[in-house]
Amino acid sequence: MTDYTNDTHDPSLTSWVESANDPDTDFPIQNLPFGVFTRNDNDDLASAHIGVAIGDSVFDLTRAVEAGILAVEDDLDTDFFLGILNEFMSRNHRQWSAVRSEISNLLRHDDAQLRDDAQLRDRLIIPQSDVEMQLPAIIGDYTDFYASISHATNVGTMFRPDNPLLPNYKHLPVGYHGRASSIVESGTSIRRPHGQLKADDQDTPTFGPVRLLDYEMEVGFFIGGGNSMGSRIDMVGATDHIFGLVLVNDWSARDVQKWEYQPLGPFNAKNFGTTISPWVVTLDALAPFREAGPHRSADDPQPLDYLKPNEDMQINMTVEVSIRSQQMRDTNMDAHVISRGNFNDMYWTIAQMLVHHTSTGCNMQPGDLIASGTVSGPEEFNRGCLLERTWRGTNPIDLPDGTQRKFLQDGDEVIMRGWCERAGCRRIGFGECRGIIEPAQ
Ligand code: MN
Repeated sequence: MTDYTNDTHDPSLTSWVESANDPDTDFPIQNLPFGVFTRNDNDDLASAHIGVAIGDSVFDLTRAVEAGILAVEDDLDTDFFLGILNEFMSRNHRQWSAVRSEISNLLRHDDAQLRDDAQLRDRLIIPQSDVEMQLPAIIGDYTDFYASISHATNVGTMFRPDNPLLPNYKHLPVGYHGRASSIVESGTSIRRPHGQLKADDQDTPTFGPVRLLDYEMEVGFFIGGGNSMGSRIDMVGATDHIFGLVLVNDWSARDVQKWEYQPLGPFNAKNFGTTISPWVVTLDALAPFREAGPHRSADDPQPLDYLKPNEDMQINMTVEVSIRSQQMRDTNMDAHVISRGNFNDMYWTIAQMLVHHTSTGCNMQPGDLIASGTVSGPEEFNRGCLLERTWRGTNPIDLPDGTQRKFLQDGDEVIMRGWCERAGCRRIGFGECRGIIEPAQ
């Protein structure tokens, strides 16, 4: 395995922000994910600020630049006045890394500049509970892949029992163009959509609230610098175009999907809402968790040359889904964990998805979002959506409030988490991606 780490990943590094040293925090000094927020204590602020999460706080980069303490080259500091990350995302890997190092230096336990200036510290370090997170970027385009072979095989088995995995699957990462306008930040409610539905025993469809509402536990990545139309992104250098990763919930209406998907794939089953976690964990932060792969069995075809992995791009990242019903919230019950999987089970890497997507000369822009598809693994507990987890409702899940779930009910909250851990490394996390189902209107 290649070592992609540097001083910022040193597991012994601690911060003077005490909560960042808690072994359970998602946001130790080794993480430093970027996000966009507004402050509740809105003293001087009409617009959004850019910051990084550190422990249970946010380091306000917009104010840090204003205060003149963030020493960065190439006029990068002006990017942090824009209230959106697209411009910073458009920079190159060397520039992202330089900013990461600078932030790490300011927050480390033995750096006195901010630590010992109480007034400045109070302006720049804000409890996360005092901020409201926004979408990190203007997302011009959104694409969703289907990169888990377990997911593809399970869903294929249900929809086409005689022909589960289609012949293209092991040759190219299958995807579809999604809808960017309905991507929302974690915490936004999702209204149960209406759709055209056709029951198996009916000849004609009806229109009404969907019944088989589902989530999909996915991992998404933000494009950094793009490519011009007509040019391709190659496997060599592909990672320089990837800014960072977030958790994605691709809300899905299975009854709509089943009726509409042939021959052109998902449409209204997927376009009513997609939720992402607010903190973008950079590819730099994930360096200690990169692995070789994907591993193909001996009788699988090798990828064509343009898709051959040339660096370790499988990411060892645990993803977990919990449900908390309205009744569970009313009676103060904890969310109930219903699945846990690993992103390193995917059949295609994010680099392969990006390269295949641009292989026609399709142009990417900074802030475009690409999602992996449902992250499922070989075991029942690894399945990242209810369609698979309950096997189309035939194997319902018991919730601690005494009810059962085949698909989502009104009032259900879906909570996704992700984290990376490995011996000899500091654990880092992605925070949460949440959403509650509101009744159809
Ligand atoms: Mn999906």
